[in-house]
Amino acid sequence: DPQVDAGELLASPLRAAREALKTGVEGLPLPPQLFGPARANAAGWDVTCPAHWATLHTALASTQVERIPESAPASVADTMTRLAHGFESWEAYPLAERAAVLRRAAAALEARLPEFCGLLVKEAHKTLGDAVAEVREAIDFCRYYAQQAEERLGEQLLPGPTGERNTLRCTGRGVFVCISPWNFPLAIFAGQVVAALVTGNSVAAKPAEQTPAVAARFVAVLHEAGVPADALALLHGPGDTVGAALVADERTAGVCFTGSTQVAKLIQRALAAKDGPIVPLIAETGGLNAMLVDSTALPEQVVDAVVQSAFRSAGQRCSALRLLCVHEAIADGVLTMLAGATAELRLGDPARLDTDVGPLIDGEAHAHLRQQVARLEGEARLIARSPMPTLAQAVPNLLAPVAFELARIADVRQELFGPVLHVVRWGPGQTASGATDAAAVVRQINALGYGLTLGVQTRIDGRAQQLAHAARVGNVYVNRNMIGAVVGVQPFGGEGLSGTGPKAGGPHYLYRFCAEQTVTVNT
Ligand code: GLU
Repeated sequence: DPQVDAGELLASPLRAAREALKTGVEGLPLPPQLFGPARANAAGWDVTCPAHWATLHTALASTQVERIPESAPASVADTMTRLAHGFESWEAYPLAERAAVLRRAAAALEARLPEFCGLLVKEAHKTLGDAVAEVREAIDFCRYYAQQAEERLGEQLLPGPTGERNTLRCTGRGVFVCISPWNFPLAIFAGQVVAALVTGNSVAAKPAEQTPAVAARFVAVLHEAGVPADALALLHGPGDTVGAALVADERTAGVCFTGSTQVAKLIQRALAAKDGPIVPLIAETGGLNAMLVDSTALPEQVVDAVVQSAFRSAGQRCSALRLLCVHEAIADGVLTMLAGATAELRLGDPARLDTDVGPLIDGEAHAHLRQQVARLEGEARLIARSPMPTLAQAVPNLLAPVAFELARIADVRQELFGPVLHVVRWGPGQTASGATDAAAVVRQINALGYGLTLGVQTRIDGRAQQLAHAARVGNVYVNRNMIGAVVGVQPFGGEGLSGTGPKAGGPHYLYRFCAEQTVTVNT
């Protein structure tokens, strides 16, 4: 069968490479990973280099995940009082000094990369490749926002009539509440907190309940780098108690939230219901992200991008691909290759170098997704599934990457935050679903209401541009994977059900944390 051969073809170099496992220092095996550590290499760290692997492995072996005590509701109020005082003095620091603090934190993170990787693997079950990339991203956020603050936030003299001097300056707003998710427990936590700090706010930081230890360690790094004790505090505990108390506090001057759409709306309602000032919300939420593949696309490139986008990090990225829309003319070949490539993925212990896909964050996520996969098994056609590892290599909460074919885009009802891909065909033959041309497909994708990432695979340049303009999304990726936005290179964030439009790692992000003041002086 020529189609099966195509799948085999894609999978075979990987299989051959794995069969030829090399032995690294101290007998540690160095098998290839399907999700290559490109970002890790960019950081000067290569998890396939024996010396680096040995360092990371040693750090991992000695990593202890510290138990962080929950904050009592009464201590939330006390902490907010302290942070409200702390704001006055922190905001008075010269901008250059606040930026210098971020740069010192970046240097400390860089020096302690193996230690932070150990925590990310042990506390958040990240693979080593993902952990290295995440520490790198946190470092990038510190350095990028330090540079942006110095470039953009200084006092500006504006043109005006003779006899008048007009200046514009950016200031902090007060106490900013930063609520972050478990899927990037260092990078997103750090990005929010340092953006709020460098703009002159004091910060109440509430990490996800599942991942407080890595957050606490980074808060300690910031204090050591020079953030005063009363300008930054970590508050740990459930969202519906500690998070809710922070949002409800009268001293909260702004909230930055990354997490689910549903919780973002709860926060927005709670802020609106309070007496006093109108408090801004910066929200970055989920996505029902699609990839549109036309009949001119390169199948091998498509399948590689799909596997990376849908299954890397066990699909636990808000940018991840959830819905593959593939042209009917090439669908059979692409889906057969996808089945071959998915079958090659290795699930297992995230601390092992040959693991492509680690476990889900916890048992609750696992139970929910298993239920959703069972539903899809009843409703849709199974296209691809990765094999589960042998019992000896199994760790809790593994979910095999899986793809199902559905009849219509509208059948995809919710974001499944894991390695579960929906596939729909489009083209002139699909009159029943109305997905007969690319423009109709984009309209149907827009109608899902989310607006985070979109992948386009085509060899027609004009079409890629046209579809990018028609799509109501924050990030479009053409002829590549659609995850792993790089700080300062691909400003990241969406609209609609995907958030209020902040672009993390972009040139306008810091303004969202600022108050702006215009001073007009009659000279
Ligand atoms: N910035 C990440 C990416 O581009 C996703 C962040 C998230 O999952 O919230 O893949």
